[in-house]
Amino acid sequence: MSDDLHSHSTASDGRLSPAELVAYVHQRGVTRLALTDHDTLGGLAEARAAGRRYGVDVINGIELSAGWRSRTLHIVGLGIDDTHAGLRAGVAAQQAERERRAAALVERVTALGITDVGQRIDAMVGTGQVTRAHFARLIVAEGKAHRVADAFKRYLAPGRPAHVRAEWATLEAVITWIRAAGGIAVFAHPFGYGFTGAWRRRALAAFVAAGGTAVEISTGTTSVQQEQQIARDAREWGLAGSLGSDFHGPDQFWLPPGRLRPLPEDIPSVVERLAGG
Ligand code: MN
Ligand code: MN
Ligand code: MN
Repeated sequence: MSDDLHSHSTASDGRLSPAELVAYVHQRGVTRLALTDHDTLGGLAEARAAGRRYGVDVINGIELSAGWRSRTLHIVGLGIDDTHAGLRAGVAAQQAERERRAAALVERVTALGITDVGQRIDAMVGTGQVTRAHFARLIVAEGKAHRVADAFKRYLAPGRPAHVRAEWATLEAVITWIRAAGGIAVFAHPFGYGFTGAWRRRALAAFVAAGGTAVEISTGTTSVQQEQQIARDAREWGLAGSLGSDFHGPDQFWLPPGRLRPLPEDIPSVVERLAGG
């Protein structure tokens, strides 16, 4: 029995289709998976069907980008009704903003000296959602960065030549959509923003004030010490714990599905709350 409640497919910036993802995690001992693609519900039906074939309990999920104090936070919604009209309207607005940003990014990345950027990005994205990771991969393919992380640091981050700011929905709005659709809002990868401890706690306090009730404790990139720190935050605010590898593909350098540390025993799992506990 192993849970992985944060993962991506080709519906956004993952490398595997939803069905391939379910097969992949099944082979690695994952028995409960949430597919949480960036600002899309598009992969969920395929993932659920694959879950029935492989005996994996697939939970509906999404990872929404949210604006907070001129920064971007990632809020995972778990157990959402993917037919809910309010959630779908919110997701459609996020997708429109992704398209707007991508059009601006095509110009910036072309200015780096890369050709046919629009067509090449379209070919990579297919029917899924366009993300900055797609642009980063193109920059790597052109030999202008060694890895996706380097492409972000050198070209796509704030202050760099191919940075384009996105105007996401507010933290309050995305948590409201998730809750209206019957889901639980989870503060994703709390050590993934480059925050100091004080900023992390400010962001968590804003998340709780907006109706968020869970936080990721065990992730593919956290140390034991970081997990202990965030567990203390979870206890202080009465948050449930979640765990997820943030799997994007077999080529990633962080922990793959099926290898996460279990949650501390005294912290309620978000899964219990999903079950109505
Ligand atoms: Mn991603
Ligand atoms: Mn994220
Ligand atoms: Mn993610």
